[in-house]
Amino acid sequence: MAVSVVAQDELYRRLAAMREEAIGPDHDPWDPYLTVGLAPRPLLTSIEVTVTNTCNLRCEHCAVGDQLTDDEERLITLEELYARIDEVDTLLTFSVTGGEPAASQKLVDEVTRPLLQYAKARGLRTQVNTNLTLPLERYESFIEWVDVLHISYNYPEPAEFARIAYAHALHQPKDPEALLRRMDANIQALAAQGVFVSAETLLTHATLPKIDVIHARIADLGCVRHEIHPLYPSDFARHMQLASLDELAGGVRRLLARRDPRVWILFGTFPFFACSPDPSHRELWQYVMSQPNTTIRNDPDGRNRLNVSSLTGDVLVADFADLGPLGNIREESFTTIWERWLASDLAGRYHCHCPQARCLGPNLLVVESYYPDVDWKTRRALVSA
Ligand code: SF4
Repeated sequence: MAVSVVAQDELYRRLAAMREEAIGPDHDPWDPYLTVGLAPRPLLTSIEVTVTNTCNLRCEHCAVGDQLTDDEERLITLEELYARIDEVDTLLTFSVTGGEPAASQKLVDEVTRPLLQYAKARGLRTQVNTNLTLPLERYESFIEWVDVLHISYNYPEPAEFARIAYAHALHQPKDPEALLRRMDANIQALAAQGVFVSAETLLTHATLPKIDVIHARIADLGCVRHEIHPLYPSDFARHMQLASLDELAGGVRRLLARRDPRVWILFGTFPFFACSPDPSHRELWQYVMSQPNTTIRNDPDGRNRLNVSSLTGDVLVADFADLGPLGNIREESFTTIWERWLASDLAGRYHCHCPQARCLGPNLLVVESYYPDVDWKTRRALVSA
C-alpha cells in the first residue's frame, strides 16, 4: 500500500483529533480509511469485545447463532483484558457485541458497563450492538457511555419480527410480537433522549422487496442512521439463500429512490466496486457515492479492527469469523496478533487499495459469496468517487 507516513507525535495528535470530531457522514471513526497514510502498515484503531454468547432471541439471520448458549463460563478477567487493550495506543473506537450485551442486569453491571466506562475514560468512541428488546432501564443504565447504539431492524411488519426472531428458538412465546413493540418503544425513548441509534438491515429475499418500508419505519422511530449489508452467510444465516448481485443492486436503488433524506444511509460490506469489469456495477458504485448523506464504509474487520472474546481471550478477525482464533490475549498482545494477521496470505489476498476510489478492498464474506475467483491484487479502480 503506497502511503506517506507521519511522525509519531503527529500521528498521536491526529488520532486525538479524530476521537474528538463529531460522528457523521464526513467523519466515521470506524472506517479504516480514516488512518490510511498515517503509518506504513494498517493501524489497529478498533477493538470489538464479545461480552456474552447468551441472547433472548434466536434470529434467522444470526451470524453467531451456533455459538449462542444459556450458560457460560468466564475464563479471563476484565483486568487481563484492560491490560492488553492498554497496550494498543492507536485506538479510536471500541465496540461491545454479543449475544446480547444487555441479556441480564448482572452482565450489564459486571461486564458491559465497566468496559464502556474503561473505553470512555480512554476517550474512545463507543458502540454497543444490541437487539434492544429488553427493559428500557437496562439500556439506560449504560447509555451515557455509548456513542452509537447499533440495532438490527429487518421488520416491515410485526409478523416478520415473529418469524425472524424466533426462527431458531425451541418455543415461540404466546405473544411473539411483544418484543418488537418494546424495541420500537425503546428506540423512540432513547432517540428522544438524543441517543444516536443506528439500525442495520440485512438485504435478504425477505427484506429486499420491502426495504423502503423498513427504511420509513426506521426513520419514523427516530434512528439517525440506516446501515445496509448483504447477508453474512455465517452460522444460522448459512442456511439462508443469498440474494444475487442483481437483486442486491435492485434493493439499493429502491432504497435510495425512496429514502428519507434526513437519515444517513451507510452501506457496509458493499458488494459493488469501482474496479468491476461490469459497467453496471461501477455505475451503481458511483451513483451511491454521489448521494447526499450516504456513505460506503470500508470494512473494518481485519483492516483496522480485531474482535476479542471477554469470556476466553480468543482474538478473531470478526465476531462471526469462521476462520477460528488468530491468537489469545493470555499469550500475546493485540499488536503481535495484528501483525501476524496482516502478514498472512489470506489478508494479502483481498487487502487492496485504490486511492481514487478511497477503497480498501472487499469484505472476506463478500469475496467468498460473490467473487471466489477474482484476483483482487490485479484489479484497479476504473472510476473515481
Ligand atoms: S481497492 Fe480493491 S476492491 Fe477496491 S476498487 Fe481497488 S481493486 Fe477494487
